[in-house]
Amino acid sequence: MKAGNQTKGSVTPTWDQFKEAFAVFHNDYQIVGHPGEPAVSPFDEPREYGKYSLTQIPDLMTEKDFESQMGSMKKILITCMDKRVARKIWESENGASGEVFLLAIGGGVVQNRERRKAIEVIAGYLAQFHQLREVVASDHEHVCGAVKYFLANVGLSNENGLPGLLGKPPGSEEEREIMNRLISHGAHPWIKEFGDDKVVAKDAYVNESERDVQEFLIQIKDIKPLSIEQLEHEMQAELIGTAAALRS
Ligand SMILES: [Zn+2]
Repeated sequence: MKAGNQTKGSVTPTWDQFKEAFAVFHNDYQIVGHPGEPAVSPFDEPREYGKYSLTQIPDLMTEKDFESQMGSMKKILITCMDKRVARKIWESENGASGEVFLLAIGGGVVQNRERRKAIEVIAGYLAQFHQLREVVASDHEHVCGAVKYFLANVGLSNENGLPGLLGKPPGSEEEREIMNRLISHGAHPWIKEFGDDKVVAKDAYVNESERDVQEFLIQIKDIKPLSIEQLEHEMQAELIGTAAALRS
């Protein structure tokens, strides 16, 4: 199906709109302090464990090339470009089959503001490829540096033991629930384009010492979605509440 036709969600964006939307993420290595590292094509294998893997459409790729490579894809995998996550989740989602289109960006499906708008364009464009059977919408647990960055570096635990999401203990059930709600919210643009029978939401848990990743299915229907913007708002309210409690 060519651009301009109707898909499940809306009018299919053009190739140029799709490329522009992808380019919104082209500086993501900077978020994690690694500017200038090489991006990879969504059709290629990600970089090895320990290196960040941002996917970008190669500059010289034409729409025709893209359509021809896309024709053999069965699955779209959206995940964080994280150095511990991207490669591992690609392997566990059968990336080596050569049938997985990888969208690896900072935060995976968890996005905000103009980044979320770009995701809507990307999802709308990819939905024209009707042979796709599955969309895996994922991010990973408490160490996602991109989500931390979206929350102005205050919202997330990291290896140095900073407080977890909304002050929940890092790695706790409560924190996992918040991340699952963020992932559920992030899955919605994909559900809109592909339908809920094709989209699965997953939370990746990374065991750094074993270089292993476990994936947990998220029951989207049973979980209340939470946007980054709502979370920011809740965190501010909590900070104000804490300050007021300290004063009284
Ligand atoms: Zn991450």
